[in-house]
Amino acid sequence: MYDPKSSDLGLYIHIPFCLKKCGYCSFVSYEKCDHLYDGYVDALIKEIRKADTGNRKVKTVYFGGGTPSLLRPQHIYKIMDTIYDKCDVAGDGEITMEANPGTVDHVKLRDFRECSINRLSLGIQSTDDDDLRYLERIHDRATALQTIKDASKVFDNVSCDLIYGLPQRSIDTWEKVLREVSSMDIEHISMYALTLEDDTPLGKKIAEGKAAPLSEDQEADEYELIDKIRIPFEQYEISNWSKRGYESKHNVNYWERGDYLGFGVAAHSCMGRVRSANTSDITKYLDSLKKGDSPEEFREELDDEKILGETVMLALRMAKGVSINDIKTIFNVEFEDKYKNEIRDLAELGLIERTEIGYKLTKKGRLLGNQVFVRFIE
Ligand code: SF4
Repeated sequence: MYDPKSSDLGLYIHIPFCLKKCGYCSFVSYEKCDHLYDGYVDALIKEIRKADTGNRKVKTVYFGGGTPSLLRPQHIYKIMDTIYDKCDVAGDGEITMEANPGTVDHVKLRDFRECSINRLSLGIQSTDDDDLRYLERIHDRATALQTIKDASKVFDNVSCDLIYGLPQRSIDTWEKVLREVSSMDIEHISMYALTLEDDTPLGKKIAEGKAAPLSEDQEADEYELIDKIRIPFEQYEISNWSKRGYESKHNVNYWERGDYLGFGVAAHSCMGRVRSANTSDITKYLDSLKKGDSPEEFREELDDEKILGETVMLALRMAKGVSINDIKTIFNVEFEDKYKNEIRDLAELGLIERTEIGYKLTKKGRLLGNQVFVRFIE
């Protein structure tokens, strides 16, 4: 029987604004809305003040988007001030902000650092101008490189996001991007495959035959290249690499199925058995907080079976994999009995392998992760 313990908390703050929508973007973000920034920050502050944190220690805060770095440092200061006032934030708390090249300079970064931000996650995506044009990013190669340099002078913990599987580029270009970014003064890299919803501008172009379609083979080749060229970072999760000790604490909390509270439009929360989400409509979000109502739009309570499946799936995303002992301790379940058939089938397909503590994905399994996860959460 799963017994949710009062663990430490992560806080996620969604900032749904961007200067301009990128062609592939399906995140909840609105362009050209600077007139909403002040009101949105006030709404966030109201929502944070009303939250039930159960007096738990806050270990991580994450400003995600959208483009949080579009806000002024004073906005971040006000939000952090509210969090410090309301919550018990750990002295060594990790406080991350996502920032995009083209929205920050050295001075603005230094001001964010002074608002307690101690980790910066940069949406670099590529350092190749053709790639950046294809993705319809607002920045070019020179801005990307300058932003990384500025960030590493101000922050001791900098992460860069990159995208692989861009259909118009060659594997050589990907190799150049990888080598260039991984040789810079940064501590962490997240790399995601390009995925496209049909209703994005790029998705539509591909559907109409006006842009090259995505290729699973190319995606696999580019993912495998990361391993082959041995970047000086250790892979600790399917999409994440870091220097030792610089793993993202906030995201590790997600993969360990720890508790987190999300604030802002479209933000999700997970507290023990209960999962919930706010409205994705910014007008509704602002109105509900103005009236003193909750912006929550969805709530579900998960049973033991679902929580167990989720816990296994999330653990398998991590390089260390799932621990048989942890599953026994948390759920009182014998992992190898419960999942006898899944383990047999997935091992036969070469997707998972035994470790000293349990099971982890193989190299092939990391490429075909969804085929594995579906066996535990269906
Ligand atoms: S910067 Fe990020 S959130 Fe904003 S439009 Fe581009 S992909 Fe979407």
